[in-house]
Amino acid sequence: MSELNQEYIVISGARENNLKNVSLRIPKRKITIFTGVSGSGKSSIVFDTIAAESTRLLNENFSLFVRNFLPKYPQPDTDAIENLSMAVIVDQKRLGGGSHSTMGTITDISPIVRLLFSRVGQPYIGQASMFSFNDPQGMCPECNGIGRRLGVDMSKVLDKSRSLREGAVLLADYKVNSWDWSMIMESGFYDPDKKLSDYTEEELEQLLYAKARKVEMQFAGKSMNVTVEGIIEKFTNKYIKRDVKTMSERTQKAVAQYISEGPCSSCRGARLSQAALSCRINGLNIAEVSSMEVGQLIRVIREINDPVAAPVVKSLTERLQHLVDIGLDYLTLDRETDTLSGGESQRVKMVKHLSGSLVDVTYIFDEPSVGLHPRDVHRLNELLQKLRDKGNTVIVVEHDPDVIKMADHIVDVGPHAGSRGGTIMYEGSFQGLLASSTLTGSHMKRPLQLKQDCRQPSGKLSIKNAQLHNLQNVSVDIPTGILTVVTGVAGSGKSTLINDIFLSQHSDAIVIDQSAVGVSTRSNPATYTGIMDDVRKAFASANKVNQGLFSFNSKGACENCQGLGVVYTDLAFLESVKLPCEVCGGRRFKEEVLAYKLNGKSIAEVLEMTVERALEFFELKEVVRKLQAMSDVGLNYITLGQPLSTLSGGECQRIKLASELHKKGSIYVLDEPTTGLHMSDIGHLLAIMNRLVDAGNTVIVIEHNLDVISQADWIIDMGPDGGSKGGQVVFEGTPQEIIHAEQSITGKHLI
Ligand code: ADP
Ligand code: ADP
Ligand code: ZN
Ligand code: ZN
Repeated sequence: MSELNQEYIVISGARENNLKNVSLRIPKRKITIFTGVSGSGKSSIVFDTIAAESTRLLNENFSLFVRNFLPKYPQPDTDAIENLSMAVIVDQKRLGGGSHSTMGTITDISPIVRLLFSRVGQPYIGQASMFSFNDPQGMCPECNGIGRRLGVDMSKVLDKSRSLREGAVLLADYKVNSWDWSMIMESGFYDPDKKLSDYTEEELEQLLYAKARKVEMQFAGKSMNVTVEGIIEKFTNKYIKRDVKTMSERTQKAVAQYISEGPCSSCRGARLSQAALSCRINGLNIAEVSSMEVGQLIRVIREINDPVAAPVVKSLTERLQHLVDIGLDYLTLDRETDTLSGGESQRVKMVKHLSGSLVDVTYIFDEPSVGLHPRDVHRLNELLQKLRDKGNTVIVVEHDPDVIKMADHIVDVGPHAGSRGGTIMYEGSFQGLLASSTLTGSHMKRPLQLKQDCRQPSGKLSIKNAQLHNLQNVSVDIPTGILTVVTGVAGSGKSTLINDIFLSQHSDAIVIDQSAVGVSTRSNPATYTGIMDDVRKAFASANKVNQGLFSFNSKGACENCQGLGVVYTDLAFLESVKLPCEVCGGRRFKEEVLAYKLNGKSIAEVLEMTVERALEFFELKEVVRKLQAMSDVGLNYITLGQPLSTLSGGECQRIKLASELHKKGSIYVLDEPTTGLHMSDIGHLLAIMNRLVDAGNTVIVIEHNLDVISQADWIIDMGPDGGSKGGQVVFEGTPQEIIHAEQSITGKHLI
């Protein structure tokens, strides 16, 4: 290989999915951005070829002995890939992990905070593990470090307007004249005739929480030794601290009505032991530090000037600064990772890698600008550049012009989607792209148009005094019968306002977001949209056989893969691997089923058709209507049988949109529908949204994309900033008005 080629990852003859035998070179230690309409083949090059080959090579590093236990990773369909370094994929998959995984744990910042407390916290209490809620030494013993706990719901247990004699305790065990009731009445500890509302705090505390004591009591003239304890104390020991499975179903039900989940009463949600919580630095304990927004926390940490802590303070501020740099300054370290959005998750993962010390790695990003306001895109760019400058190769699939602009190298894939794509249209600098006549090049040159004739609303839906998360008592009207765009920087409160508050008041709204649509591994666009039912019927009547034969779940399905076409192998320490079924070769049905034809095609051949091809093939009115809807949302290139699990978030969202399009008189809520869409596809999306509005629907879109914002009938701009510095409506009005609104950051980007 020539000296020159060492500087490039060289791919020759790539043919995965729709790729037409493409060859290209990607400069090492540079930022290369892949552009092109969705379905053109960007992911087929970046993920299915480059990343797949890297995984396979990684596997070859294992000894032959270990490899015997691993699946044989198929080589990507390509002639050669040279000069590849280890690839790390930083995607938008949500960070799961349950309540024990937080922003602090996932970024490895929490261990440093604990170290800091163990070094300079007062009073000094021991090693760093004392401050970890994942460690038996540090966790709150009451809630095992979860911070939340099942507890007794007081409002259901006491009627304070009554005395004990009148039955103030509502628990079934304490019914008037019951044994437990008598114990309490006769114990002499409590005034049986005073209303509970007149009890002092101390008396109430005793009634509820007194520890068990032996008391001698007189019953029917006989002296007895009995145990008396506070009613909640007793209830907790008897029912809550016990394994529910040992209780009868009836008891479980009876107990459940008095119980609700709430913050742990011992640590008040802080998850840590009392010893850990009493240790402070500059007056703050570790729970207070962890619940502080990162932007404020970094200032607090900088104020620690104890020389013992200097190295720890330095590494901590460095990492916190990365979070600030990437625009996550509104998050807190104790934020549970499963509540982060896809875009936030990707940026958090990015920070983790920035702090690591890997070099000569190929980093692959999938639309990292998702969820970022135009104001913050430059921060993303700076982080990508930092990764590059550490000596890594950075490969990015992206649609945002502001990211594309800063690429060292651009690969434009096209010209269109599916079979009409799969070739390289342009390779080179950004300036060169602008000068080219590719779809991407020509769209980058178009100026923004602000909508002129905005529609008049037919009415309004009001939100009053919303206060969830960072919302600062927000009251706002959402106009009906028009297209409203809700915008604002990340963390300003858009999702909280629309997804949490608005949707909880209007449960009839149709929500179209990016969450996965696959109900089972057998789901595909044909089953999801209902086309499969019509197709099965057509095959059945054409061949005079039972339509059940043509279902993946039936006798007609391949027995080896149960109609999946692939076989999954689960591995303990790697992600599960999917290999084509050896029996049916991925066609999913038995030979005898494949012999039945509809206009010359077998069921497997129909499922391999793209939406575009199927539109030519089918004449059935219902099928054509559903196919047309998919075509309208830009999914022409998808095949009917492609498993939904292989679709991107943006594609899932458009499939949902397609199957909901025919409903009328409804409220639609779309959460960042431009995700995964090329600039040239956004026009189609806008056309669909406008069609929905013209048919009498209300459309509400959460979006950062300037093309969409500029075409709104009405804009609601949240801000001014993220987190505690946001949570207000800073502007309501039309695109023509927002550019004059002083306080709107969004407005400045539309000029
Ligand atoms: P992009 O990343 O540019 O949006 P993709 O590389 O994902 O495009 O898709 C290119 C083509 O390959 C499309 O026609 C798509 O439907 C098809 N394709 C992608 N993944 C698969 C798959 N797992 N199985 C079958 N077809 C696929
Ligand atoms: P946007 O949609 O504008 O990006 P969000 O509504 O997601 O903003 O977030 C607004 C604020 O509420 C942020 O400070 C965010 O960290 C916080 N927040 C959002 N969801 C949760 C949650 N599930 N738990 C705690 N805080 C949250
Ligand atoms: Zn606790
Ligand atoms: Zn099979």
